[in-house]
Amino acid sequence: MKILICNDDGYQAPGIMALYEALKSIADVEVVAPEQNNSAKSNALTLHSPLYVHPAANGFRYVNGTPADCVHIALTGLLGYRPDLVVSGINNGANMGDDTIYSGTVGAAMEAYLFGIPAIAFSQTEKGWAHIDVAAQRARDLVLQLAPSIEVLAHGVLPTIAPWLLNVNIPNLPNDQIKGVKVARLGRRHAAERVITQTSPRGETMYWIGSAGPAKDDGEGTDFHATKQGFVCITPLQVDLTDHERLPYWAQTAARLTQGQP
Ligand code: MN
Repeated sequence: MKILICNDDGYQAPGIMALYEALKSIADVEVVAPEQNNSAKSNALTLHSPLYVHPAANGFRYVNGTPADCVHIALTGLLGYRPDLVVSGINNGANMGDDTIYSGTVGAAMEAYLFGIPAIAFSQTEKGWAHIDVAAQRARDLVLQLAPSIEVLAHGVLPTIAPWLLNVNIPNLPNDQIKGVKVARLGRRHAAERVITQTSPRGETMYWIGSAGPAKDDGEGTDFHATKQGFVCITPLQVDLTDHERLPYWAQTAARLTQGQP
């Protein structure tokens, strides 16, 4: 198995180091990751300045770009082969509910998924890297479990098995306190905290984006609930943002516009 690893916290983050160490014994692993912290960069691509790739002393390669840049250039020429799986993380903090829209960790995985490659985004639910080795072992377990599916996909997409995109959140717990693995849908968060303003040394007002809001929809069946109960949570994601349910409603609006009615 050939695995490309990326992240959004930067190539020196403990999370990507732990993920690399855990996966290198079960696969051919390469790391292409951002030089700097690129959290909350979502699927952003850098189109108006060049990207440079540098080798790090440990064999990783780092890029002056976003997580999606790293995966994009890796898949479109840098690697010279097509990886069987792309994994992203392990992120410093949760990517649950609405976080997935902003997450650079998810963005890197999604970039691979858009290229038809199965992909997994891994995050720890709390910042600070506590029990990162446990999270890395849990990531390795999941990749091993999915190996047959990855193998089939590597030989071409079948009508019954399409590439998948998984969002995985792992509680920062000792191994024996993790209850198991659950599949759950994304919850929702409240609106973000207020913007924070400060005055610069030159008297200008500076604005800091506030923290993400606390969980709002965190009932049973959500990622927030599963991880709070001590489970590793897997949420399968899709990319289609269409509001399918309300297509008929908007079709009526379109019909009225077509007929020239107000
Ligand atoms: Mn991050």
